[in-house]
Amino acid sequence: MDIQYVKGVGPKRAVQLKKLNIHTVEDLLYYIPRDYEDRTKFKYISQCINGEKVSLKVQICGYPIKSKPRKNLSIIRVPVRDKTGQATLVWFNQDYILNQVSLGDLVIVNGKINFFGREMQIVNPILEKGSGDKIGKIIPIYSLTSKITNNQMIKIVENALTSYLPNIKEKLPEDLRKELNLMPIKEALVNIHFPKSKDHYIQARKRLAFEELLILQLGLLLIKNRTKELYEGIKFPKDDEIYTFIENLPFKLTNAQMKAFKEIEADMEKDEQMNRLVQGDVGSGKTIVAILAMFKAWRAGYQSVMMAPTEILATQHYESILNFLKDYDINIKLLIGSISNKQKEEILKELKEGNIDILVGTHAVIQDRVEFNKLGLAITDEQHRFGVKQRAVLSQKGNNPDILVMTATPIPRTLSLILYGDLDISIIDELPPGRKKIETYAVGPNMLDRVNEFVRRQLLDGRQAYIVTPLIEENEQLDLQSAEDLYLNLKEEVFTEFKVGLLHGKMKPAEKDEIMEKFVKKQLDILVSTTVIEVGVNVPNANIMVIHNAERFGLAQLHQLRGRVGRGEHQSYCILINGSNSKIARERMRILQKSTDGFYISEKDLELRGPGEFFGTRQHGLPELKVANLFSDMEILKIAQEKAKEILEEDKLLLKEEHFYLRQSIIDLFKDRIKDLILN
Ligand code: ADP
Ligand code: MG
Repeated sequence: MDIQYVKGVGPKRAVQLKKLNIHTVEDLLYYIPRDYEDRTKFKYISQCINGEKVSLKVQICGYPIKSKPRKNLSIIRVPVRDKTGQATLVWFNQDYILNQVSLGDLVIVNGKINFFGREMQIVNPILEKGSGDKIGKIIPIYSLTSKITNNQMIKIVENALTSYLPNIKEKLPEDLRKELNLMPIKEALVNIHFPKSKDHYIQARKRLAFEELLILQLGLLLIKNRTKELYEGIKFPKDDEIYTFIENLPFKLTNAQMKAFKEIEADMEKDEQMNRLVQGDVGSGKTIVAILAMFKAWRAGYQSVMMAPTEILATQHYESILNFLKDYDINIKLLIGSISNKQKEEILKELKEGNIDILVGTHAVIQDRVEFNKLGLAITDEQHRFGVKQRAVLSQKGNNPDILVMTATPIPRTLSLILYGDLDISIIDELPPGRKKIETYAVGPNMLDRVNEFVRRQLLDGRQAYIVTPLIEENEQLDLQSAEDLYLNLKEEVFTEFKVGLLHGKMKPAEKDEIMEKFVKKQLDILVSTTVIEVGVNVPNANIMVIHNAERFGLAQLHQLRGRVGRGEHQSYCILINGSNSKIARERMRILQKSTDGFYISEKDLELRGPGEFFGTRQHGLPELKVANLFSDMEILKIAQEKAKEILEEDKLLLKEEHFYLRQSIIDLFKDRIKDLILN
């Protein structure tokens, strides 16, 4: 029901509530307070500390005194006491209080303690006689616009609960709710707004978070299962030639690579469409796994396409694919923005005619004009750089080609089940043998000269260095050194005898590629950069990564940056310049020094950075969560995932009566994305 029919709302206030995304009564009941004020804790006067907010039971022990020190200012002072001491209640410009207090009254007050010399004051307190209903409770605090006060909102929610709570349906099947010992929905909604106690709040929140995560996970699983069933994919034949190819590789695949490939192979040989994510730490060797899949597609007479987020990365992939497949008669082409129109036309023509077997490129490969003859496999590298949409466009370039997505941003499994809920997941959690550990040091800014000296010695030995800094524009407030300043300083004052280049996010793609190209070709010794280099580039001769203001980066990001070195035969170094004295910053530096395991680091990142910052869920195309937090509710999420699986095993389309309301909620949540899938 529309929100405007709730008592106390009406058309005008409804407009304001709609700005908060509250359109229906249900929206309102699920509008979770952002915080609570606990007025249940009573203290004695002698226990009060300056600045804290407390509730007190006191007796008025003197006559109220009104003074008017200025024209627009009136002050009322009321002396009170309990058995432990005395205090003064002080109100500014609230003369009506005079009618509410008289000598000897027993009252309850709530407010902030302010010591004024030896006198303890409580300024503008809430005051109640008797047991009252404002104090002695836990009061919700809502995120609101300036047009609605918290007290008004409390009234509106109270009215909605009184009138509409009986209509709220229990979505969770009774057995499940009992098994998990979860609060009934009505009780949970009352207690999320007006918790009887802290424990009631915890139980209410847990129940609502579980419900929300269960619905989300059920929806994602439904989409995944149904997509597989409804859209027929390509059935690639079994083929042993690939194993000869694997044996002839210049290295032995790691067990993890082999396992990932086997999973891909099994998917490809099924008649369902493959939708698989390969997660592997930087340097774990994802590219060769992708090449194996493309090899298999080629053997079956299909075309493959591989999309990378930058030209430089696409070019590197192209070159390494050429190199790995040079003994075979496979036609491989590179399609990027910077090639000539003539070349482009030629490629488009060949592609359509089916003469190109493997196409590597940037976004260019998903443009309208790109048509394949027989696309069998579509791969995106560094998925986190692409949205879900781009992946979908790529997939539509053929007739349900198999889809492979590769990412070097490792995240805990529970989370990938949500963030990549519609994908199957392979994990490469092992690095090829013989990699030298990158030596990692964290130092303070006072060590800068020594760091530069160290870099100089490596450069004199013929190596190259990355020097990374977080921001491009001078931001005095944060006192961060901009990349441009740093660049000029290093080039003109510190490393005058070397060639220094600058790369930053505001440059045009062509400019970036040109600089990167120079660095690859060793026409530059030092590359000063913002984070644009974090993705996949491979310059084996670069062995030093210096990161300024390392405290400004997330752990996962620092780990990615570090992964740019350690790619060649030389001992590599990562030097973190930590400009912060905070404990958390030091702890983060310590984790990086200690570990090179991307999964471990990303878990710590979650722990230390907390909710929200890790990365937005929005970009993954997920519905917004109202109660649950993907990060701090990891335990609840795990249970929800288990239960979602069990429920679908037993009732594939949620057609049983006890799943009716779950099914409705899923359809509501995913709207257009799921209707066709679930209703057919
Ligand atoms: P990433 O997973 O970060 O994309 P790459 O695929 O670029 O990693 O691989 C990094 C380097 O490791 C490449 O030079 C690649 O040829 C090499 N490599 C991959 N697999 C192995 C292996 N099993 N043994 C030795 N070197 C390998
Ligand atoms: Mg890669």
